[in-house]
Amino acid sequence: METYAKALLYAIPFFILLLAVEMLYGYFVKDQKYRVMDTVSGISSGFTNILKDSLGLGLILVTYPYLVEHLALMELKATWLVWLVAFLVIDFAGYWNHRLSHKVNFFWNQHVIHHSSEEFNLACALRQSISNLIGYFPLLLIPAALVGVPNKVIAILAPIHLFAQFWYHTQHIGKMGWLEYVIITPSQHRVHHAINPEYIDKNLGQILCVWDRWFGTFQEEQDDIPPQYGVLKPARTWNPIHINFQHLWRLLKDAWRTKQLWDKFRIWFMPTGWRPPDVAAKFPIKIIDDVYHFQRYSTPSSKALNGYMIFQLLSTLFLLLFMFYNYATIGFNGLLLFGAFVFIGIYGYTTLMDRTYYAVYIEVFRGLAGLLLIWMTEDWFGIDAFIPWGSTSIAIYFALTIFGSIYFTFFEKAQLQKI
Ligand SMILES: [Zn+2]
Ligand SMILES: [Zn+2]
Repeated sequence: METYAKALLYAIPFFILLLAVEMLYGYFVKDQKYRVMDTVSGISSGFTNILKDSLGLGLILVTYPYLVEHLALMELKATWLVWLVAFLVIDFAGYWNHRLSHKVNFFWNQHVIHHSSEEFNLACALRQSISNLIGYFPLLLIPAALVGVPNKVIAILAPIHLFAQFWYHTQHIGKMGWLEYVIITPSQHRVHHAINPEYIDKNLGQILCVWDRWFGTFQEEQDDIPPQYGVLKPARTWNPIHINFQHLWRLLKDAWRTKQLWDKFRIWFMPTGWRPPDVAAKFPIKIIDDVYHFQRYSTPSSKALNGYMIFQLLSTLFLLLFMFYNYATIGFNGLLLFGAFVFIGIYGYTTLMDRTYYAVYIEVFRGLAGLLLIWMTEDWFGIDAFIPWGSTSIAIYFALTIFGSIYFTFFEKAQLQKI
């Protein structure tokens, strides 16, 4: 896990830089694809994902080293051919895992966060799951384990394969000629994120598009069908933690409410969106039927609130970078506590973005807890050794979040409602 924390220290600034480039480009060509709240929500979702993964939370069913140790029929050296085969196996497994996530009710829950934005830009790529609590993916790599692809090869390729899916989340790159026949391009992935009936659940590949072409899920972007982004049951919240469990919650409610025992069981494995007929009739859920005319989610905002949320986002980024930088010295219990502060913070400020009343209680509680911890330990997880006035700055940050949440809940909200 420490290597993962180190990799993130390099990957995060790189991703943020590319986001800034796309934003500036959009600004100069007067075709901005970013909205403040949506972007803060998306990047915060990425934060929750790396927090969960770096802390190793969740149940890993089986690891690749275990599989290769027990299943390998031969021993392979890491030659260029082995690297190539391993890459193909990962990409093929990724295609089917992605297809499973789209097609089956239970698995859709772990992927819906990635599609939850109603915009399409590089920040969407950072919307990654925290609800993938059961790590089953290595099972899909059994073919690689059987022929004995060394663990080292998979361990290096897997993050590269993931990070290489970042760049194509953009509307600023058109079709790419012959590359359209080989790899997933921005054009193809725009189709994937679209809810137009012609486009939905298409282009499920991750790096290569050949799987889609072979298995009948390929769809080209058409000039006369502009992609409309989002999900058919809109999230209608900026809180990434809620988005991660909304679908699961709906499934649980339906399974509980249906009178049919068989439906209680099969709902989890039915196609995405399937509901027991009796509860669907009694508790209908609205689904977007006209993709060209639906109200995109937005909440009352102001320049001050936008600025405050960017401040919250950058502070959280700073906290996370400090946490990953000192991963080894903070120790596991400390990391859990540190992670809880960041996690509850994201929960609090995204709830504030929703203009939901109870956000202020979360923010005030967290702010006071943070101040108490600094007062008791006379430090913030060892930050004073790195930055002069480090813990004092963190204390000021906590105080600001207390005042900010009170201001935007009780003062500015009243103003906004009068308008
Ligand atoms: Zn998808
Ligand atoms: Zn995507």
